Amino acid sequence: MNRNETSRLISEHNIRPKKSKGQNFLTDERVALRHISFANVERDDRVLEVGPGLGILTAILVDSCNSVTAIELDDKLADHIQNEFGGRVNLIRGDALDVEWPAFDKFVSNLPYSISTPAIFKLLDHDFKKAVVMVQKEFAERMIAKRGEVDYSRLTVNVYYRAECRILENVPASRFKPRPKVDSALVEIIPRPAPFTVEDERTFFKVVDAGFIHRRKKIRSALRTEGIVIPDGADVPFLDDRMEILSPEDIGKLSDAVFRNGRKVCGADAERYN
Ligand code: SAM
Repeated sequence: MNRNETSRLISEHNIRPKKSKGQNFLTDERVALRHISFANVERDDRVLEVGPGLGILTAILVDSCNSVTAIELDDKLADHIQNEFGGRVNLIRGDALDVEWPAFDKFVSNLPYSISTPAIFKLLDHDFKKAVVMVQKEFAERMIAKRGEVDYSRLTVNVYYRAECRILENVPASRFKPRPKVDSALVEIIPRPAPFTVEDERTFFKVVDAGFIHRRKKIRSALRTEGIVIPDGADVPFLDDRMEILSPEDIGKLSDAVFRNGRKVCGADAERYN
């Protein structure tokens, strides 16, 4: 598929690409081939694609493996995928954030910008071998940022806790139709066990959320704002620091101390956090 063919399909199916649905279609077949090749798709792999759109990645996937599931929200695009690939694709019509995902080995997607964050969080809750996703370049940089950098965020720490992640290549905005305002990047995500242990994962993710939601506040105050109170004198490190200077491992130590000492505020009462 190239730019002309993409334009032809868009007008043939009377599609008005919507920004709210992240509908920027890839028009460069060579990028699509590299995307699938980075995912090392093998014949027996079960592949899940979110947002097949006009099918530029789907067409390569159905030739590469026996099991392709695609989740598409847009009715016209879902009809197109159904007509184009028939039984070669298990098509799920609906919102990828709402529908249950089948078991899969590889995840391949040119992710709609509008759902990048929740889709990556949902992906990380699944058991899989490898994901290769196209995301906005700024988003890719947030995924791999180091502590102290402006891009270091809740997303960074959540990804780091569960997976190895790296940028494979940058893809200019000119490779999409309609052309988005910003460039994109292909990112590889390979799940692995967390590089450090925490006593309670729920507390860890809650502490990460609190610290980054209020990243300009000191940690004691950020936790307090999110309903976690650290009693005076409790042995909890980093309370006078900001979350953005802590490594994920430091956040793990903070979370363990919060788990042991913190209290959550429930109305007028305070109870043990854990
Ligand atoms: N894969 C195609 C490509 O590379 O050209 C299309 C990618 S386009 C960036 C994103 C696609 O995701 C569109 O087809 C859009 O309709 C679909 N989409 C948007 N939000 C979605 C959602 N919540 N669930 C499933 N698909 C969605």
